[in-house]
Amino acid sequence: MAKNPRYTRILLKFSGEALAGDTNYSISPAVLDKIAAEIGEVTSLGVQVGVVVGGGNLFRGETLSAAGIGRITGDHMGMLATLMNALALRDACERAGYESRVMSAIPMSGIVDHYDRRKAIYHLTHGEIVIFAGGTGNPLVTTDSAASLRAIETEADILLKATSVDGIYDKDPIKNPDAKMYTNLSFQEALHKELGVMDLAAFTQCRDQNMKIIVFNTNKEGALMRVVCGAEEGTLVK
Ligand code: UDP
Repeated sequence: MAKNPRYTRILLKFSGEALAGDTNYSISPAVLDKIAAEIGEVTSLGVQVGVVVGGGNLFRGETLSAAGIGRITGDHMGMLATLMNALALRDACERAGYESRVMSAIPMSGIVDHYDRRKAIYHLTHGEIVIFAGGTGNPLVTTDSAASLRAIETEADILLKATSVDGIYDKDPIKNPDAKMYTNLSFQEALHKELGVMDLAAFTQCRDQNMKIIVFNTNKEGALMRVVCGAEEGTLVK
C-alpha cells in the first residue's frame, strides 16, 4: 500500500488500558515500544501527531470513589495517573528516536511542560510528538473530554480513538459474537442508538465542533497507518 497520508494533524487517544497490554504490569514497555514505533512511522510521513493518554490502567476517580476515596480526590489521582503514562510514552518515543514532549494540564515544573495551546501547535508544526497529559485539569470528566478538547484546540483534522475492538458495534462485541460493526456513522445516529462511542460530553463537543472521529483497533498490526492513509479501517463518525 502506498503511504500517502490523508491528514496533516491528528489527535490520537489511547486509554490507559491500551498501555498495559496483557502483562501483569500496569504499563508494558513492550506495548509502549510498539505504540511509539507506530506513531513515529506516521510522523515520518510528515503527519503531526498529538496524543492524549488515559490513566485507567492505574486509577479512575469513579472506582476510587466507590472504594471510599472522595470523588474529586480520586479524579485528581486519575489525572496524575495519566501523567505517569505520558512519561512512559515519552520515554518510549525518545528511545525509538522520535522527538516528543509532554504538556500537562496540571503544572509539574521540571518534569513536563505546562499545557499551552499555541506552544503545542508550534511543537506539532515542528514535527514533535506532543503528548497531552493531566486530562483537562478538571475533575468529573474523563480523558475522552481531554481528547476532544485538545483535538479541537490544536485544530487537528481528526480524532482517532484507539481501542481494543475493531470499531463501533451495534452491541458489545465481546459479549455478543453476532454484533455488527459500522464502517460509517453520523453523530446523530450514534447518539440515537446510544452506542457509547466516548463519554457523552466529549462526543457532543466533537459533534458541535465538527470534529470527525475514527475508532480503530490499536492491537491490529498497521491499523494506525491504514487509518492515517485513509484506508477502510475502523468506524468513522462524522
Ligand atoms: N480525569 C479527570 N479529568 C480529566 C481526565 C481524567 O478527572 O479531564 C480522571 C478521572 O478520574 C478518570 C481518570 O482521570 O477516570 C483516568 O482517565 P480515564 O478514565 O479517561 O482513562 P482511560 O479510561 O482512558 O484509561
